Amino acid sequence: MKKECPDENPAYRPADGAILISRCGCAIVGLTERGAVVYDMQLLIEHFHEHEGMGELDEEGEERSTATEWIAYNVIRGLEYLSGQDNALMPVIMDEEFQVFPYEADDEADDE
Ligand SMILES: [Zn+2]
Repeated sequence: MKKECPDENPAYRPADGAILISRCGCAIVGLTERGAVVYDMQLLIEHFHEHEGMGELDEEGEERSTATEWIAYNVIRGLEYLSGQDNALMPVIMDEEFQVFPYEADDEADDE
């Protein structure tokens, strides 16, 4: 079902200058120590499917790939662009234990 989500989650007060993903307040799960906003990847996927009208998720979650690609292409690329700004307090996107954005380059370097 489509609905208008707010930019923020009233349960968390981000620091001044914290960058938000527009109208994804339903996917905010916390704040970092510096007051940057923390988003949950699975909630972002649900948001784009159920609140932005990208179609209902099927039982196997097949339809999730549409939202996942959309997030990677539009949301994360947009954030990468913004991260070049001085003093930008970038949000963090978590997928369970794994940090999706900003990328944790150290983890990958150790494996290879
Ligand atoms: Zn939403």
